[in-house]
Amino acid sequence: MTQEPLHDLYGLALPNLSAWQPGEIDLVRIAAERISLALAQAHDSDDPELGRGLFRAVFTTTRFVRVRAWTTSVFGWPPPFPQGAAWAYRDHVWAADAVFRQPPDDVTGAFIHELGHVWDTRRSPIGAGSLSIEMIRAVQARWTSRLGAPLAGIARFTGSRGPFKLSQYDPGPRGIHARVHRSFISDNQYQDWAEAFKWWVLTRDRTDPYAAEPGGRWQFVEQAARRIGIGSADM
Ligand SMILES: [Zn+2]
Repeated sequence: MTQEPLHDLYGLALPNLSAWQPGEIDLVRIAAERISLALAQAHDSDDPELGRGLFRAVFTTTRFVRVRAWTTSVFGWPPPFPQGAAWAYRDHVWAADAVFRQPPDDVTGAFIHELGHVWDTRRSPIGAGSLSIEMIRAVQARWTSRLGAPLAGIARFTGSRGPFKLSQYDPGPRGIHARVHRSFISDNQYQDWAEAFKWWVLTRDRTDPYAAEPGGRWQFVEQAARRIGIGSADM
């Protein structure tokens, strides 16, 4: 398929179209479709047209770039990250060979997760997530720092993995869906948000205990989705 449906329906761009293999682009389209459906439902509708309009209000001009691996890095950054399969920042999602070595549903889930990062970071002047930081409070997550409370704020912008681990992200007391990627969630608020967004998109049953939990992650994403207006700057 060409990139036309992705561009015309969803506002997405594939700047290196020829690098994509047949079938890979369909998985991007399925991710966009599922997000659109969830956005429409948050606005009490099943209208695909409304869903795509809401999708474009948040994601238009996002560029999906196909790369071989992180060693072929973009801007020399991020540093080589052998397990990295897909990565996103602001207006870009990068998809490496490794992401496509998973079952198709997991690939779609990975793209939904990455688009969660796009929504979180693209409107922020410094590129730090705004929704993810807001979610810390909403779900009673918190950072604990070995350096003490004054530096816990700085610790938020680092991961909680690796040799310089000075802080720990605590996802808090709210329930977490059994199927989210727990190692991501306990990394930092950005991954917590992206996984929450993914499971909100994929869990459309409002009676699911994870979805119904007051003050939980599903409800937080639902409220954020309800604030999106077509043509509005409130996202
Ligand atoms: Zn992520």
